[in-house]
Amino acid sequence: MNQSIQDFDVAIIGAGMAGASLAAECAPHARVLLIEAEDTPGYHTTGRSAAFWEETYGGPGVFPLTMASGHFLREGGYLSPRGGLSIGQAGDCNKVEEFIAEFTTLGATLHFQDRAAIAARVPGLRPEWVVGAWEPGCADIDVAGLHQHYLAASRRTGTVLRVRARVERLEREGANWRIVWADGEARAPIVANAAGAWADTIAAIAGVPALGIVPLRRTVVQLRTMPAAAVDLPLTLGINGDFYFKPQGGRLWLSPHDEIPDVAGDAAPEELDVAIAIDRFEHVVDWKIEAMERRWAGLRSFAPDRLPVYGFDRRAEGFFWFAGQGGFGIQTAPAAARLGAQLLLGLPRDGLTAEIDAGAYAPERFH
Ligand SMILES: Cc1cc2nc3c(=O)[nH]c(=O)nc-3n(C[C@H](O)[C@H](O)[C@H](O)COP(=O)(O)OP(=O)(O)OC[C@H]3O[C@@H](n4cnc5c(N)ncnc54)[C@H](O)[C@@H]3O)c2cc1C
Repeated sequence: MNQSIQDFDVAIIGAGMAGASLAAECAPHARVLLIEAEDTPGYHTTGRSAAFWEETYGGPGVFPLTMASGHFLREGGYLSPRGGLSIGQAGDCNKVEEFIAEFTTLGATLHFQDRAAIAARVPGLRPEWVVGAWEPGCADIDVAGLHQHYLAASRRTGTVLRVRARVERLEREGANWRIVWADGEARAPIVANAAGAWADTIAAIAGVPALGIVPLRRTVVQLRTMPAAAVDLPLTLGINGDFYFKPQGGRLWLSPHDEIPDVAGDAAPEELDVAIAIDRFEHVVDWKIEAMERRWAGLRSFAPDRLPVYGFDRRAEGFFWFAGQGGFGIQTAPAAARLGAQLLLGLPRDGLTAEIDAGAYAPERFH
C-alpha cells in the first residue's frame, strides 16, 4: 500500500557515506529525505573500505578535499595515527623522488627513506625493496563512527530516512521531482544523486544523460600471519600501485590494488584477484601466511577524469550530482559534504571549503 506523498526540499538517493554526510550538512537548512535501497545504510562501498586517510591518495585533484577534511576528522576523533610508506625497488628511485616532490609542492608532508629506514618500519622486508616515501600524517579512519555520526546528525535535524526503498522512477512534474519506490513516493524540487556505483543508473531513471561514472572492483583479504601484523606497522603501499597492506586488530588487511570494471551490484571477490594479492605480498615480505580469515570486494566509482562530481546538472532542472567518490570518499567526506550542501542550497563558503575550487568538480566539465 502506498504511503501518503510527502513534500521535501531535497531528496537524497543513497545513504552511504556520500548521501549520509550530504544529508547532515543540508538538514539544518532544508527538509531532507534520505532514501536507501538496502536494509542498512553503508551496506555497499562505505562498509567495505580499507579505512585510511592519506594526504596523497587520489592524486593532486583530490588533495584539497582530503586536506580540508583532515582537521574535521582529527578534531572529531575519527583518525588514529598510522603512517604511510610507499616503497619501491632500485628502478623506482626517480618515481619515489618525483612523488615526494609533486606532493611536497602542494603542501603535503613526505620524507625520502633509504633501505635501512624502510626495513626498520616493515620487518621481514625482502632485500629488493630499497627506497620509500614516508607520510607521517597517514591515519586510520573510524569509518563506521563517521557514517553513524552523519546519520545521527541528520536525524537530529529532521532528516527522514527511508530504507528498503529502491528508487524506481524519477519524474519531473512542474517544479518538483516525483520520486517513486516500491511502497512509497515523495516530492521535492531537488534530487541529489549519491548512489555510488548506481550514479549513472539514477541519471538514466531521471532521463538525465550519464556522465560515464564506472564502478571498479577492489579486493581485500584479511590474513593471519607469522609474524603477526604489529600494531605500529605502517600502511605499506607499492609505489607502482600494485598492492597495499595495513594491520587491523592483530591481523593484516591486504589488497592487490585492483581496479576491475564491474557492474553496480553486491560486489564479491574473485579467486584470481585473491591469488594475485597473496603472490604480490609474498614478494614484499618473508612472512608466513597462516590463514585467510576473510575476503571482500567493493566498488570504487570513478568519473572519466577520476575526480568527484558535485553540482547541479545544467541540462536537468533540480538534478544534483554527488558522485564519483572513487577510492577517497571517506577521507574527503567532511569537506565534500559541506561543499555539496553549499552548492546545493546556495549557502556561502566557510572555513572548511574556502580553499576548494568547486569548478574542478562541476558536472559541466563533461558536457
Ligand atoms: C576495498 C575498498 C577500499 C577503500 N578504501 C578507502 C579508504 O581507505 N579511504 C577512503 O577514503 N575511501 C576508501 N574507499 C572508497 C570509499 O569506500 C567510497 O568512496 C565511499 O564509500 C563511497 O560512498 P558512497 O556513499 O558514494 O557509496 P555507497 O556506500 O555504495 O552508497 C551508495 C548507496 O546508494 C544506494 N542506492 C543505489 N541505488 C539506489 C536506488 N535506486 N534507490 C535508493 N538507494 C540506492 C546503495 O544501496 C548504496 O547504499 C574504498 C573502497 C573500497 C571498495
